[in-house]
Amino acid sequence: MMRRDLVIIGAGPAGMAAASEAAGRGLSVSILDEQPRAGGQIYRDVDRVAPLRGDILGPEYTHGTSLTAGLLQDAIDHICGAVVWAIEEGFRISFTRDGSGAQIDADRILLATGALERPMPLPGWTLPGVMTAGAGQILLKQSGVVARHAILVGSGPLLYLIAAQMVRAGTPPTAMIETQTRGNMIHAARHLGGALRGWRYLVKGARMLAEITRARVPRYTGATGISIEGTDKARAVCFTSKGCTHRIPCDTVMLHHGVVPNTQAARSMGVKHTWETTQNCFIPQTDDWFQSGIEGVFIAGDGAGIGGAKAAEFAGRLAALQIACQTGHLPQADRDQSATMLHRQLAYEKAARPFLDAAYPPCTEALLPEDKTVICRCEEVTAGDIRRFAKLGCIGPNQTKAFGRAGMGPCQGRYCGLSVTALLAQANDQTPDETGYYRIRPPLKPVTLGELAAMNDSTLDATE
Ligand SMILES: Cc1cc2nc3c(=O)[nH]c(=O)nc-3n(C[C@H](O)[C@H](O)[C@H](O)COP(=O)(O)OP(=O)(O)OC[C@H]3O[C@@H](n4cnc5c(N)ncnc54)[C@H](O)[C@@H]3O)c2cc1C
Repeated sequence: MMRRDLVIIGAGPAGMAAASEAAGRGLSVSILDEQPRAGGQIYRDVDRVAPLRGDILGPEYTHGTSLTAGLLQDAIDHICGAVVWAIEEGFRISFTRDGSGAQIDADRILLATGALERPMPLPGWTLPGVMTAGAGQILLKQSGVVARHAILVGSGPLLYLIAAQMVRAGTPPTAMIETQTRGNMIHAARHLGGALRGWRYLVKGARMLAEITRARVPRYTGATGISIEGTDKARAVCFTSKGCTHRIPCDTVMLHHGVVPNTQAARSMGVKHTWETTQNCFIPQTDDWFQSGIEGVFIAGDGAGIGGAKAAEFAGRLAALQIACQTGHLPQADRDQSATMLHRQLAYEKAARPFLDAAYPPCTEALLPEDKTVICRCEEVTAGDIRRFAKLGCIGPNQTKAFGRAGMGPCQGRYCGLSVTALLAQANDQTPDETGYYRIRPPLKPVTLGELAAMNDSTLDATE
């Protein structure tokens, strides 16, 4: 059985920066990611795509090549196409790759599993032709494909970025239907001090809005009553904005109202999570070096709380410094010296976050959808079903599994988890912390019997 000083799950900015830092300090490192190439969400496939579409995706995207270059060290084993489905105490990591299972042991583990787009359950969101805006962006990044006659619905900086990238690609969205209100902006003004400290983000936002405006993309803000019309596929989006009702025909709808930490792996290991009101999601508890309450388990990047790609990079490096220090590869004084600048850079990156979180909150209608809206897509459980379960005495997400299979499908609750917590919390008049979340158990991702049967012999011998 292969054993490494450090195994990192996730080859996004946090994981890549941590791998490079740790290997540079003398640790043996394996970095596993289910994607075929390094980059994570923001720098997806960057080495291949930067020369092809770098002008459309912008310098924030092409910066990723500096991180992928850091993986080219002998001490780093980058195992791509590796889907991690279980992490046992001690730590043994099980993953599937190329149709067979494999395992690897680690002294320390860094979870750099990033973020997921917050699901946006609205009437009609399960129709063909409706996808997350991030999925639309993946099509552009990986395949150079842009959806025609697409409407972007939701809020947040990523929505503007994707709209601007579509403009640059020569296929602007048909319209943007935005849920943030003037009241949100007024509320956010109290965080203006922080936003001004992180002024580069404001400038970037202003530039993206200017690009969208120049392309004459119609923008409707403060949108409510949003529904997607169609029977066989999405045909139009209906909504109200500033007192007027609208119906805009389209072929594609791209939904987005923020990202939330992907906590499945951390939860499966028993890491404690708490509700973060400003980001409206659960985040794992970690210390200043991103170590969780479980010794040897670190969590960095968006998986530890949404901070963006640069913050993820700095957090990954800080975690690696602490791991190098703990394992005797780096004296404490050197750790502290290297960390000073990183902590300062991290604080800068996070300065604008409270402003952005307040200015672009998630859409209330999608946080607490109307009864007939499906929230667990795998098992086709509606919001009304969850409310009915609550009336029958269901107090937490784990019980919804027994009441009606919510969270028991292939996604293992990744997409419905927060909706179930929110609906139960409201119905039972409890806080999200009191309501809790699904208990996550392996497999974190679907694994077939064939993959297990084809498990590498040497791996099997070592585990028997
Ligand atoms: C769809 C989407 C698109 C985004 N696009 C942008 C953008 O264009 N610009 C921007 O500024 N921000 C973007 N963001 C936000 C951005 O993801 C983060 O700020 C940044 O990438 C976080 O870096 P990270 O290293 O924490 O995680 P990520 O970059 O998300 O990397 C996490 C990696 O972990 C891997 N992983 C997760 N679970 C497993 C598992 N079980 N087994 C194996 N591998 C696993 C994933 O494949 C992924 O590569 C996007 C977010 C999403 C969800």
